[in-house]
Amino acid sequence: MSQVTKKTDEFIALEDRWGAHNYHPLDIVVERAEGPWLYSVEGRRYLDCLSAYSAVNQGHCHPDILKALTQQAARVTLTSRAFRNNQLPVFCKKLASLCGLDAVVPMNTGAEAVETAIKAARRWGYHHKGIATDRAEIIVCENNFHGRTTTIVGFSSDSGSRQGFGPFAPGFVSIPFGDVEQLEAAINSNTCAFLVEPIQCEAGVRIPPDGFLREAAAICKTNDVLLLLDEIQTGLGRTGRMFCADHEDVRPDAFILGKALAGGFYPVSAVVGSKELIGVFDPGSHGSTYGGNPLGCAVALEALQVIERQKLVARSAEMGEWLLGELSRLHNSAIKEIRGRGLMVAIELHELARPYCEQLKEQGVLCKETHDRVIRIAPPLITERSDLEWAVDKFDKVFGV
Ligand SMILES: *Cc1c(COP(=O)(O)O)cnc(C)c1O
Repeated sequence: MSQVTKKTDEFIALEDRWGAHNYHPLDIVVERAEGPWLYSVEGRRYLDCLSAYSAVNQGHCHPDILKALTQQAARVTLTSRAFRNNQLPVFCKKLASLCGLDAVVPMNTGAEAVETAIKAARRWGYHHKGIATDRAEIIVCENNFHGRTTTIVGFSSDSGSRQGFGPFAPGFVSIPFGDVEQLEAAINSNTCAFLVEPIQCEAGVRIPPDGFLREAAAICKTNDVLLLLDEIQTGLGRTGRMFCADHEDVRPDAFILGKALAGGFYPVSAVVGSKELIGVFDPGSHGSTYGGNPLGCAVALEALQVIERQKLVARSAEMGEWLLGELSRLHNSAIKEIRGRGLMVAIELHELARPYCEQLKEQGVLCKETHDRVIRIAPPLITERSDLEWAVDKFDKVFGV
């Protein structure tokens, strides 16, 4: 074994000894990154086709976001919300305008933003709909992924996420993803919201039937039920539109955002909603020590501006269409379906995806299997066409043309 390989093995052994084993990572130890490229401790270069679950849509270590981070870090990083800061209002205005909505609740992680949306929706249900105390219901979809808190895993249908973590919070009703009739049937006078991902990325890039979101939005409106869209992964350009909901011209009552909101530099999440919904929060009803901190706001503001300045939404649409076309040429009996929206592309197999991800890794392309049989291909939106051509060549090598 060479000296360099030993280095990788040493880091892996160290992590396995001292870290919790709640992930099953590919065995590559990253030391630095730039744009779409990751570099291992051995100095080998890999094309990142996961983008940290779409948190680095802007590319790794984007120089403009880095500058915003370092400049703000030298001024003031955290005030808590006990005092105001000069970054939060600018960020809130920018994000709300981008969403075509009224107001923002800043948080840190995606799961916290989902929890925030749940709290807002329930309170709205009691205040505006007159639902009896503690009876509010939220409709969710089977195979959802909304994060890892106890409340959220409580309405997951994935046994690995739930098993051993109960008891769980009541008040959630599950329907099949993409089924508007079941949605309508599940609504009753206690229903305050429908919480849904426009594409179920973690479930294996499951794209609902055309018109699902539009029809769901109409049903929600008719029944005075809030539509809460979890666009933590699909949002901010990933699917070839700023928001995946834009594919069907849907404006929800709230967008739940995270991941690319800070371009991979810092955990920033948010619920962006209507005045009526966000208005349910009064002083003392909700908060977070780090939520809305000036460092996070400066980073997120720049991360949004990078998406606009570099026209990453249009790039995602264009590159995604091209990539889908190229990958569709792959002919291999293991492949069941190739699908995608923008640069959220998936190869679904008849067999386990992990061995293919291992082979792709050997070729220098990093993909992660999702739900056993799906390979998700979601490179940063800044990735050059020539780099994607290089990657397609590697897919050809692994799958044969
Ligand atoms: C990643 C993700 C979350 C959770 O975000 P965290 O920052 O990991 O808490 C929630 N919903 C969706 C759709 C996600 O992809």
